Amino acid sequence: MPRLGAHMSVAGGLPRAVERAIVHQCEAFQIFTKNASQWRGRPLGREEIREFRARVRAARLRPVVSHASYLINLATTNPALRQQSMEAMADELDRAEALGLLGVVLHPGCYTIGGEAEGLALIADSLFELLHARRRGKTLVLLEHTAGQGTALGATFEQLASIIARMGDHRRVGVCLDTCHLIASGYDICSPEGYAATFTQFGRLVGFDRLKVFHLNDSKKPLGSRVDRHEHIGQGCLGLEPFRRIVNDRRFRGLPMLLETQKTEGRSPAVIQVDPLDERNLATLRSLRKSEVRRPESLRLET
Ligand SMILES: [Zn+2]
Ligand SMILES: [Zn+2]
Repeated sequence: MPRLGAHMSVAGGLPRAVERAIVHQCEAFQIFTKNASQWRGRPLGREEIREFRARVRAARLRPVVSHASYLINLATTNPALRQQSMEAMADELDRAEALGLLGVVLHPGCYTIGGEAEGLALIADSLFELLHARRRGKTLVLLEHTAGQGTALGATFEQLASIIARMGDHRRVGVCLDTCHLIASGYDICSPEGYAATFTQFGRLVGFDRLKVFHLNDSKKPLGSRVDRHEHIGQGCLGLEPFRRIVNDRRFRGLPMLLETQKTEGRSPAVIQVDPLDERNLATLRSLRKSEVRRPESLRLET
């Protein structure tokens, strides 16, 4: 069984995200440990860290991951932006470590001048340096496969594999697959044949032992669009079938599968309450997961 959950807001402090995960009956969740569109965040207080960790433990929520700031670009050749990105990613890793998170989900980066190969090398070397400086840490770098918009790297399994290989197969690098990014970047996970071929390729190039997280989002844009627009589960170009296969696929047993779909607008961030959109998307995923018992024929595809 996968562990279903969603990205949760930290409005009101990090422990509030745990409360939100609990009211949505999540088994795992994702947070931003600071504002994702700003370089700097306020330092985390000791009491806030302690309370967060205690509540996560008490609610048996695991794993918890963070998503790094969207400003970070480790593939840039611009020295100032590179320095800023290194400092910001270092801070992301330190925050995740303090909070006891499994890892930090990171968009690998966009190459600037130079090309793809140079960009991939810059990403790998930067991450290696950051992990090497934190040798005693546990938190992982989780490279998110991307939609391939513009010069974004990490949109093919080959690129993810090349970053990992250049990091010397570092034990603290993992991968996050986002269903919206898969279809947008051209991996057809909708047809049974496309699904089988996609994950056979993933297993061969990256390896299932590297796969630590799924982001489950439907896509507003079609196969190969290279545009990243999340849609509610079952309402976009993916439909329900790919999700049914993923939540019941034995290769993904026990993995966190987290929603990053749009929340209900106009609700007070100060109050802990169930978001009807998250609730519906989670209910849909749970109903697909339960179908493992009721519809044994859907299993045969994967075994
Ligand atoms: Zn992302
Ligand atoms: Zn994602």
